Amino acid sequence: MFKHECGVVGIVSELKNTSYDLYFALRSLQHRGQESAGITVYDGKSMKTIKGMGLVDEVFGVKELMELKGYKGIGHVRYSTTGKSTVENAQPIFARTNIGHFALVHNGNLINYRKLRKGLEKRGAIFLTDSDSELILHLLAFSGQSDIISALKEILHKVKGAFSFIIMTPDLMLGVRDPYGFRPLVLGETEHGPILASESCAITLLKGKIVRDINPGEVVVIQNKGNINSFYFDSPTPKMCIFEYIYFARPDSYIFGQNVHEFRVKLGEQLAKEVSIDADKIIPIPDSGISASLGFSRESGIPYDRGLIRDHYTGRTFINPSPKDRSFKVRMKLNPIKSTIEGKKIILLDDSIVRGTTSKIIINLIREFNPKKVVFLSASPMIKNPCYYGIDTPSRNELIAAKKTNEEIRKYLNADELHYLSLEGLKKIAGTRCDSFCYACFNGEYPVKADYSGLSKNIKACEGKQIKLF
Ligand code: SF4
Repeated sequence: MFKHECGVVGIVSELKNTSYDLYFALRSLQHRGQESAGITVYDGKSMKTIKGMGLVDEVFGVKELMELKGYKGIGHVRYSTTGKSTVENAQPIFARTNIGHFALVHNGNLINYRKLRKGLEKRGAIFLTDSDSELILHLLAFSGQSDIISALKEILHKVKGAFSFIIMTPDLMLGVRDPYGFRPLVLGETEHGPILASESCAITLLKGKIVRDINPGEVVVIQNKGNINSFYFDSPTPKMCIFEYIYFARPDSYIFGQNVHEFRVKLGEQLAKEVSIDADKIIPIPDSGISASLGFSRESGIPYDRGLIRDHYTGRTFINPSPKDRSFKVRMKLNPIKSTIEGKKIILLDDSIVRGTTSKIIINLIREFNPKKVVFLSASPMIKNPCYYGIDTPSRNELIAAKKTNEEIRKYLNADELHYLSLEGLKKIAGTRCDSFCYACFNGEYPVKADYSGLSKNIKACEGKQIKLF
């Protein structure tokens, strides 16, 4: 499975205290990062930050939220793509600089991080973390400009890659999205004021209205009284991450102007148009295969059924009797329903196949209950390339579709049939916007020229391979 990246939120409120709203918003973005969580608030005089390792609920209790008093604030949940998983790298990050003090939360991956960092270190910058997000603070501080807006305008041309970030200063809240718009960033409005969030689920949870996406290449500026204006620092060249729709984002979110569940239903419908299968039922691999399975069932007429029950309480650190026994880990999460499987010709559908190891374990688990036939469907095309834009992917060598043919993968998975959604089918669903998405993990056509230094931890294994520059 690809690993999520990060989730960000920023709230300006007429209320004296935003910490509970920030906490609830972060909980709704928990799927985007489970390694660390943090909140910074501003009370009109100073900023206060609490952050720590673990889930939002592990870092924040009533005591912590009572300590965080402020009428505006920003929050972050993290999964590391650049930088180690340590509390030093947890966000928000805070800095006092010659242009004032501010805090920042970032979702994405800056592909020219190492090069820019080296340059700043030569000029005397002292980095406290090995996260690429800190680079933005140093670039702002070294810009030579006298205010944050002028500094942003200068430095945003220097950073390359994927970035959706929020900066909080005493006077402003700024939402920034890179010119390609790889990661989502949505503007909303609650009854108490404006909100910025990675996904709209954080806005609607707070009973807010979705106003619009921050556009690629745009900076949205929110004043303390809630007045909003914006400017473009670069012309938009949208290459939004199609995988946000396929897997990362929550089905109830609206990102890139469309509901995620609806998009996934269309993936299933398109797959049903592309393949003809003799089966008694379609069973989703929960949760990410549910929406596409509904679409497949609607289009093909093959009944949808539940055959795997997911345990939502399996934490990150449960006691595993045999750490090497991956199949037991999968069984702890997914338990089959014997009566819906035994003697039936079943289709299993998942959002994607990355290494293939989990898919193989699930199929073997299902086979213990004597199905007549097991067909495996992937609601996305074959993943052949790693991602450099804020997603932690295995190296190319570990991606099963990069090395094996469809038939070899079918045999490895122990499936009777294996089908992937075609790339053409995926683009068809994107419709008139199909050129506005990144498909690099499928076709290797990377929208931003790759600079290998400072990329994800698996990057070394990918050096010199399959990069097609634009
Ligand atoms: S390479 Fe794949 S995961 Fe990465 S941004 Fe592009 S579509 Fe998304």
